[in-house]
Formats: sequence, C-alpha cells, structure tokens
Amino acid sequence: MHLNLRFPALLGAAAAISQAALSQEAGQQRPNIIYIMSDDHAYQAISAYGGPLKDLASTPNIDRIGKEGIRFDRCLVTNSISGPCRAVILTGKYSHLNGFLNNEGQKPFDGSQQTFPKLLQKAGYQTAMIGKWHLMSDPTGFDHWEVLPGQGSYYNPEFITSEGRHTEKGYVTELITEKSLKWLDEARKTGKPFMLMMHHKAPHREWQPGPNELTLYKNVKFPETETLFDDYSNRGTAEKTQDMTISKTMRIEEDLKLYKDKSKMKSTGLTRMDSLQMANWNAVYDPIIKEFYSLNLTGLDLVRYKYQRYLQDYLACIAAVDKSVGEVLDYLRESGLDKNTVVIYASDQGFYLGEHGWFDKRWMFEQSYRTPLLISWPGVTKPGSVNSDMVSNIDLPETFLEIAGVKVPDDMQGRSMVPILKGKTPSDWRKEHYYHYYEYPGSHMVKRHYGMSTERYKLIHYYYDIDEWELYDIKADPQEMKNVYNDPEYASIRKYLHKRLAKLMKKYGDSEQLAKSFLPEN
Ligand code: CA
Repeated sequence: MHLNLRFPALLGAAAAISQAALSQEAGQQRPNIIYIMSDDHAYQAISAYGGPLKDLASTPNIDRIGKEGIRFDRCLVTNSISGPCRAVILTGKYSHLNGFLNNEGQKPFDGSQQTFPKLLQKAGYQTAMIGKWHLMSDPTGFDHWEVLPGQGSYYNPEFITSEGRHTEKGYVTELITEKSLKWLDEARKTGKPFMLMMHHKAPHREWQPGPNELTLYKNVKFPETETLFDDYSNRGTAEKTQDMTISKTMRIEEDLKLYKDKSKMKSTGLTRMDSLQMANWNAVYDPIIKEFYSLNLTGLDLVRYKYQRYLQDYLACIAAVDKSVGEVLDYLRESGLDKNTVVIYASDQGFYLGEHGWFDKRWMFEQSYRTPLLISWPGVTKPGSVNSDMVSNIDLPETFLEIAGVKVPDDMQGRSMVPILKGKTPSDWRKEHYYHYYEYPGSHMVKRHYGMSTERYKLIHYYYDIDEWELYDIKADPQEMKNVYNDPEYASIRKYLHKRLAKLMKKYGDSEQLAKSFLPEN
C-alpha cells in the first residue's frame, strides 16, 4: 500500500479502468513486457534461489515473480560486465559484433544499429527506458527515456532526458520506481501494448543503502562463504594476479563507509546528501566507525569484519530493490494489467559475495557467469517452476520479440525462450555456451579470456599477455578450485572441448585474431 500513499493520483487512475486496459484484460492485445534489471545482483542474494542468505536477507517480492512463473537456474552471460551486458540484451549480438566490449576505454554504444526496442516500437509497442543505461550514447528506440549518467549516484542523483540533465532529490531506487510507475500509468491509457525497461543502479558498488534501509542489517551476522580465504593454488596466473579481493582491494573508507576522513565521501557521491540525509546517515555510521577503529583489527579478523560490513550494505541496497519490485507488481495487480503483462527480473550479471575471497564480476567462474533470471507470464508460465536449461542474456531480445509476435531478425545470435516459457524445451536447445571478456588492463585486472561451458565442464583461455588454458570439472569441483587442464585423466575431454570451442567461435563469428584486433595497442 506504499504506492497509494505516494501516488494518491494514481490510485484514482487505477480505479477508472480505461478502454485500453479493458481490452487488455480480455486478452485482445499483445502482452506488455516489463523488464526489471538491477546491477550486480548476485543470485546468491535472492531468496528464491535458496542458499545461506535466504532467511537472513529475503527478497519476498522478487520471489513472487518466481512463484507466479519460472526461476531460471542456468542463465549465463556472454561477457560479465555492465555496459557490454546491456548492449548484448539490446542487440542480441555478442560484444565483438555489437561493438561494445568494455566499460572502460570504450567508444559510445552505436545507437543507430538494430535493437529489439526499435523493432518493438516499429511493431506498435510503446517503449520506455528508465534508470541505469551505462552505454554512453543517448538511448534510441524508446518513446520515453530518462537515464542516469554513467554509473549514476545513489543520493539526489542526476537524470538525463532528451532535454538535458537535471538533479532530483531522493534515493535512486525509489526515484526510478516512481518514474516507472508514472510512465506505466500514462502508457496504459493509449491502447497500445508497452515494453518498459526499468534498470536499477543498485546494488552496484559502493553499495550505499537508502534512508529506509540504513539500519536493516546493522546487527546481522552473515555466514562466511567457504572460499573466503582462497589462496588460488591449483590455478593459473590470472587468478593469482587479479585485484578484486575483499582483503586487499576493498577500501575500508569508500567501500565500507568507515570514514576516518569524511572529505573522502565526495568521491563516492555521498556529499550529494542534504543535511537531513547526512544527519540520518551519520547517526547510523558514526557508531560503527567508532567501534571499528577501536577494534584495531588485522589479518583474517579484518577480512572477516570487511566481509560482514560489505554484506550488510550490499543486502540493504537489495532490500530497496525488492520493495520496488513489490510496488510494480502491486500496481499491475491493482490496475488489472497483471493479466497481460510479462514481468522479468534479472541482473546485468552475477557477482561475488566473498567466493574466492572476491567481490565484483568479470570471470567465467560461476558466480559472475550466471545471472539471476525470473520470468512470469500469466496464463503461460507454470507457477513455481524451476528451469535448468542453459539460457543466456543473449536470448532475451529474441524472447521479447516473439512474445510480441514480431519476426526475429536472422542476424540475432541468441534464441527465443518462448518454448521454454511454455514448458517445452526444444530438443535441440543449446548444450554449450560461449563467453568472451575483454576489459584488461583495467579495473580489478582480470585478464582477457574466452571460453566455453557445457553442463559439466568449462574450458577457458587467457590469451593476452599470458597464454594459459584452464579446465574445470564443475561436477567434481563445484567451487572451481582446481584447474585440471594438464591432468592426463582429462586429456580426451580437453581435446573434445577444444574442438567444440573452435566450432562455437566460428558459429558466432569470433576468433582470436579478431580479439587481438581489439587490443589496446591496435
Ligand atoms: Ca553490473
């Protein structure tokens, strides 16, 4: 009922059901699509996926989508980093073809190319993009767009529209929700089906909780992941030389808000807060800061403390996202739109919550390679179902097009998941998935790599400044702690996977030669 308090005008609009909504209720219109995507939301932090955080930090509203639809357990991304994932979802093409390979040192996304929102718009859909965009150029293919510049700010953020930039007072997750609900309320009066992309900034680093969630997990102790103190033995140079550990890389002040010097708040945008917001913030964090510096922690105790602080803030950001999802679902129900609206919840990619001692993403290892995906399509998806088919973010645009009855262009590289949504996985559905990550040298120093996975194995090649192959047997080693590439027992599977990888690269038009043409020196 949060919505009603914040939007008294919307309640009236919802009561007076328009002609368009009536025809939608009668199922006469093509389905609406709401794609809700957060940034860096680990599946380990969604209670529908189970796991040790399930009861300590539940996400009841995101879980509702799974209860009404399908939870996908093997949704794999093609290049585990923000902008590139977004470009893949818009175009249905791997990074080397859509041209957006990295977050850093990257030319703006070429918005003149074919995207699924453009195709939907052409087919009579109203389209909107609200929230984090992160592709540097202005959005194209949307009737309405209002996006954050770059990574955006948590407090009193700036938004960009076709008219320029402006600042709004409030917390970014709540502002994106309000804007989306307002647009939905306008859109549904026109009699056209709609497609809304609602993209949250949260829970991206530096994990700044909103005013209503500041104290939520302050006193909760979370279980430590088993590989928090991974020493990267039995693996190669790439794992040993990365810069993304909780122990060394995570900053005590900027990331964990344990500011000794509050002038450092400027670099993370916290000084955007007004005096009241700042007073509320300090009331919560000052005692934590005081306690932390009195403890004088070092070594493993310090890592343990950092891990807890990290999770407290990260999960508090997610609580606001979950509330947002609840408000959207409530609005759909109150307006009757729920009957003909497909709702999707996903993250741009997965994230490490201490696995291998890490935060961040980028790798082809499970926690960042997999992204959460829940889809409900009333009357089509079987409530509460769980699917383990190998699907991918590259399949989303084709899925959206087929839902809308729009012909899928031949040059898109994924595959529509509509048969799966209907409960019938095609017998020739993919059993292998291709991956390619490019951002190196760069933040966190994760070396460039490409590779393929099957249900059981992963073959990975680090090809820039080193030439190292890795092979993981996920069945024998689910935590991915042992590279068995040179183990004679795996010689025949290694040979087989090499062959398959070459085929996949050919299929998708990628090659090591092409990859090398994208290197910084070229
Ligand atoms: Ca991200």
